[in-house]
Amino acid sequence: MVRYTGNKCKLCRREGMKLFLKGQRCFADKCALSRRDYPPGVHAQKRTKVTEYGVRLREKQKLKRIYGVQEKQFKLYFKEAVRLKGNTGENLLMLLERRLDNVVLASGFSLSRNHARQLINHGHFRVNGRRVDIASFQVRPGDAIEPGTKENTRKIVAEAVEVNKSQPVPAWLESSHDTLSTKVTGVPKREDVPHPIQEQLIIELCSK
Ligand code: SF4
Repeated sequence: MVRYTGNKCKLCRREGMKLFLKGQRCFADKCALSRRDYPPGVHAQKRTKVTEYGVRLREKQKLKRIYGVQEKQFKLYFKEAVRLKGNTGENLLMLLERRLDNVVLASGFSLSRNHARQLINHGHFRVNGRRVDIASFQVRPGDAIEPGTKENTRKIVAEAVEVNKSQPVPAWLESSHDTLSTKVTGVPKREDVPHPIQEQLIIELCSK
């Protein structure tokens, strides 16, 4: 699995918005964007003119960075979004929302998306009682997601739940912080996507 290992705050500064890649730090005064609200790089502040292509490209990069998806995998999601019935842009967002790492994060079971991915890769989560160690696993309505039974696993997840207890859980998930379990009650709708993404711009870019 290929993933970005560089400075995450630079990605937010590049996109000019919070991508929430560092868990609770993103909500604190320590957030790099609140202190350096300009793109990284020596000459970045001089760049002013953004082309139509540039606007669309930035929107795509934003989406990829929020969900931690690389270009190759993103193309597969786009292909699948086109194949599915309905609005391609919404299909794309729904596929990304239904990733297991997103569900673990949205349920409050991890401190950040990278943390969710690490816990899954290390086999700490189960879907319908079976261990799943693939972060991109697509959950379906009716699936039950919970951490494994090992004491250490439950301790890590319980600590994350404590940190995230005020975080709202999306309507398509039914999460119990007492039993540390989440049930997928439906499919995510466009209004359930918490990120300010203009998916139509991405579709225009990728359809060329
Ligand atoms: Fe982005 Fe701020 Fe979080 Fe860094 S701390 S990843 S700049 S939101």
